[in-house]
Amino acid sequence: MNDHVSTTKKAAPGREGRPIGRFGVAAAPGGLRFIQDLVNTALAEQPAPKPDLLATPDAASTWLREALDEWAEATGMPAPVIDLGPFDLGPLRDHRELLRAVLRAAPVDAPAPGGDSLLPVSSRDITAKALITVTADGQARYEPLESGWRAIRALTSLETLLAQATGTWPRLKTCAYATCGVCFYDSSPNRSRVWHDTRKCGNVTNLRASRARKHTN
Ligand SMILES: [Zn+2]
Repeated sequence: MNDHVSTTKKAAPGREGRPIGRFGVAAAPGGLRFIQDLVNTALAEQPAPKPDLLATPDAASTWLREALDEWAEATGMPAPVIDLGPFDLGPLRDHRELLRAVLRAAPVDAPAPGGDSLLPVSSRDITAKALITVTADGQARYEPLESGWRAIRALTSLETLLAQATGTWPRLKTCAYATCGVCFYDSSPNRSRVWHDTRKCGNVTNLRASRARKHTN
């Protein structure tokens, strides 16, 4: 199966009725999927078996064009024009990891993602500039006011605001397995998922925890 984000557009809906994106996870609803698409440009651990789509300007621009098309389709708004240069990639990857840390799911009965976590806990605020327009017929639109990676930061910030207003934000999570960090949308009734794939990431973590317990006992 082609790993690229472009496969999401034509992908058949998954069990939850939403398109399946990279790493086999169902897309978050509406424009929130843009945050998910950004985080899932790479796994937490680098180098990872899957390529980082933000590794080069060409790859990042291709990813962004397709992610913005998905966003436009999901929101019914025109895709903003955002150009990425070579100097945008470092800050954009940092922003991705900041979001991954903010969204990290906390396992209940498994080791906390401190310890061997590769990720810093987010310790800084995110500030962005956006333009909000309410049209004469009462439709609200939003778009980034900045350029380059800052425009992406603005769009993820706007989607965070909207998701918090509509109640979908607590369902957007990144996998608790420290080296994975895949971003998934938790549709479970009690919002209890912590792994993007229980068989892959849950089992390996539980196995480690049980080995550690045996070691200390
Ligand atoms: Zn995972």
